[in-house]
Amino acid sequence: PEFISVSNLADVIGVRPAQFVQRMEEMGFEEITYRDVLDAETAGLVAAEFNYEAIFDSGKADLHAAPELEDTSDLPSRPPVVTIMGHVDHGKTTILDWLRKSSVAASEHGGITQHIGAFSVMMPSGKAITFLDTPGHSAFLEMRRRGADVTDIVVLVVAADDSVKPQTIEAIKHATQAKVPVIVAISKIDKEGSNLDRVKGDLSVHGIHVEDYGGDVQAIGVSGKTGQGMVELEEAIVALSEMLDHRAATTCNVEGWVIEASTKSYGRAASALIRRGTLRPGDIIVAGTAWARVRTLRNEAGVTISEATPGMPVEIDGWREQPGAGTELLQAPNEQKAKDVVDYRMERSDTQKMGVDMVAINEARRDLL
Ligand code: GDP
Ligand code: MG
Repeated sequence: PEFISVSNLADVIGVRPAQFVQRMEEMGFEEITYRDVLDAETAGLVAAEFNYEAIFDSGKADLHAAPELEDTSDLPSRPPVVTIMGHVDHGKTTILDWLRKSSVAASEHGGITQHIGAFSVMMPSGKAITFLDTPGHSAFLEMRRRGADVTDIVVLVVAADDSVKPQTIEAIKHATQAKVPVIVAISKIDKEGSNLDRVKGDLSVHGIHVEDYGGDVQAIGVSGKTGQGMVELEEAIVALSEMLDHRAATTCNVEGWVIEASTKSYGRAASALIRRGTLRPGDIIVAGTAWARVRTLRNEAGVTISEATPGMPVEIDGWREQPGAGTELLQAPNEQKAKDVVDYRMERSDTQKMGVDMVAINEARRDLL
């Protein structure tokens, strides 16, 4: 049987506990306090009094990510996922282009990369870095709005000849709110009028304290044009990632995020970042209300790969419907379960679209004992 406390039910329905209890007393309940626990049937009766239809849903029909492990120290390391942010024209695209040219896929396959929303750069040390190649702030915000903490590190680009500008400040705000560590790339250092000290000073005014300016945020002078400082930037990212000790299980059910969806000559495709597990052709996955039996996995050069591990960007095809960007991707045990989960989610989203109060009480499932 399922239960809900009076206070939780009041909360779900949006009525103050005292008022809620009073109404229950008017209904004929005796000696009720907000701490009392109601069974599903009783809760349904009370909810009906408030014009709510109670749907007691344990959430078992859905797929869920596994809880975070407290101790990940035995798990394999994974590449950090990096987002580049900064003011317009400060050189973000130029830096990404430089990095993309040095990506593994590009160097192995004649430099032809296709856009899949993320790409991987291999350092001489053998460490990889994954860069999100989606237009900065909006993608970052959209992902976060959906609850996706995809980014491990933000590279904040500030032009050496222009210093801190409104979108720099905005980027600082986003990174701080998301509690994502920042590395500063002071860009365009090849230009006349570069003033690194001014940038560092201006940054500290806005709460980013770099080394020698009262803090420990790394600031690296770079030029996406000449490549100066770019390797140091990559090394700083790897060093920070090692310090943060990014690790992920590779043998569990696959979990990840859809970065972008597109239609390619070979059909519906979605690029994704795997968070945990190892994705292989034949696996069944669900993202939002779309599911796929993975047909082909490709890297950013469009080359077929046999598996995708955590932190590795990959393009997946085999989708029955187009998945949404920013949706969570989860492995299903079989096709039937995938279809059932999609149906279940469609029903729920239909209810939400109709604006029926039912959904609110549906949320109560989390509190059911
Ligand atoms: P974004 O808006 O941040 O993506 O900036 P872009 O990468 O598009 O660069 C804006 C302008 O600055 C372009 O004209 C680039 O050619 C120029 N630019 C970018 N990085 C550098 C650099 O390191 N040195 C110089 N001299 N120019 C740069
Ligand atoms: Mg740009």
